Amino acid sequence: MNFSLTEEQDAVRKMVRSFVDKEILPYIQEWDAQGHFERSVMTRMADLDLMGVCIPEEYGGTGMDYNTLAIVCDELERGDTAFRTAVSVHTGLNSMTLLQWGNEEQKQKYLVPQAKGEKIGAFGLTEPNAGSDVAAMQTTAVKDGDAYILNGQKTWISLCDVADHFLVFAYTDKSQKHKGISCFIVEREFVGFSSKAIKGKLGIRAGNTGEIFFDNVRIPAANLLGEEGEGFKIAMSALDNGRFTVAAGACGLIQACLEESLKYCHERSTFGKEIGKHQLVQQMIAKMVSGLETSRLLVYRVGWLKNQGKRNTRETSLAKWHACDAAFEAACDAVQIHGAYGYSNEYPVERFMRNAKAPVIYEGTREVHTVMQAEYALDYRQDKVLRKMLPAWPFSEETVEI
Ligand SMILES: Cc1cc2nc3c(=O)[nH]c(=O)nc-3n(C[C@H](O)[C@H](O)[C@H](O)COP(=O)(O)OP(=O)(O)OC[C@H]3O[C@@H](n4cnc5c(N)ncnc54)[C@H](O)[C@@H]3O)c2cc1C
Repeated sequence: MNFSLTEEQDAVRKMVRSFVDKEILPYIQEWDAQGHFERSVMTRMADLDLMGVCIPEEYGGTGMDYNTLAIVCDELERGDTAFRTAVSVHTGLNSMTLLQWGNEEQKQKYLVPQAKGEKIGAFGLTEPNAGSDVAAMQTTAVKDGDAYILNGQKTWISLCDVADHFLVFAYTDKSQKHKGISCFIVEREFVGFSSKAIKGKLGIRAGNTGEIFFDNVRIPAANLLGEEGEGFKIAMSALDNGRFTVAAGACGLIQACLEESLKYCHERSTFGKEIGKHQLVQQMIAKMVSGLETSRLLVYRVGWLKNQGKRNTRETSLAKWHACDAAFEAACDAVQIHGAYGYSNEYPVERFMRNAKAPVIYEGTREVHTVMQAEYALDYRQDKVLRKMLPAWPFSEETVEI
């Protein structure tokens, strides 16, 4: 075991930290208050080669290892959850899924521009009546010659108004239940596609989230990802990557809570001493430290498994569950430590608390992960090798199918 970062990983961490300090933190309070998604942040991230860190160079990325993606997400969420969420859907849920399941033509057409940051990818699984219960989805894709006709709607889709490409899941054969779901690459420009942002969100207000609609959208058969009926497996494997980035981001949120709380502990005095000297305040600080350290260890273990090319659904679920719960608890405690001042946007901790709630809900709710962990322990659930696995790192010519 080696717990140290490589020189390259350390350089990426410093670069993203400095980017967040200069280009996100000075503006985030205003963007959050206005519910404004600042698209130029993604353009700048593309300039810094951050939109495809763990995508092989042959496919437009920078070819770094999977833990480098975790480091990027960790540092980004120290700035705000909105931009980490953008990387989670763009790289974790979309690009890595294309890398894993796409054929060469699909990779060249969609993955290469996404990894370079020229195009933005998103992920459409959730529907008004289908969240945790994915198989309850109603969107359908009916074969019509060399195309599929897509009808339906998705909701709570991150980057709904921003993304150029979407991975969309739809029934091609409802009678087969989850084995009848297929995955399609859908372009915003396809006729019959539309999107609408959701207003009035509790948190991630600087992010773009909303609905996407398909009204007889004609999708070329070449845009079927994987095989017909493989959509459910593709969605679940995509979540192995998305959840990894969410867990990594949660570490950054705990880090931000800790930094703000430590500062305030030294600034504020009650009963003749710094509040940091009160043991019950120390208890909250200590929980943040423990949440941060244990979450990072769980995240890096998942990155290590991905680097080995091993399945990691069980470990990813645990990392996501633990880190998101720890982040929400850290954010609530950060507000508590700030007392009434924490309750206003004079300090960032109220934003942290509002932002920390969504990750406990999306990419598998806390309850879903609790059930999964119990099922693994009880041997009711096992992970099998998939028909297509995410390539191990270092990427070789063989694994990237040049
Ligand atoms: C900010 C944000 C961004 C999002 N981005 C995306 C995106 O980009 N793409 C996308 O596809 N989706 C996205 N989502 C949707 C998200 O993945 C779903 O909200 C999530 O899967 C939960 O589904 P649901 O909201 O329908 O809740 P439900 O599934 O209806 O659950 C409601 C409650 O019941 C509980 N529950 C449900 N089933 C069980 C069970 N079997 N056992 C115990 N408890 C259970 C849940 O834990 C929850 O507490 C996003 C959501 C948010 C908030």
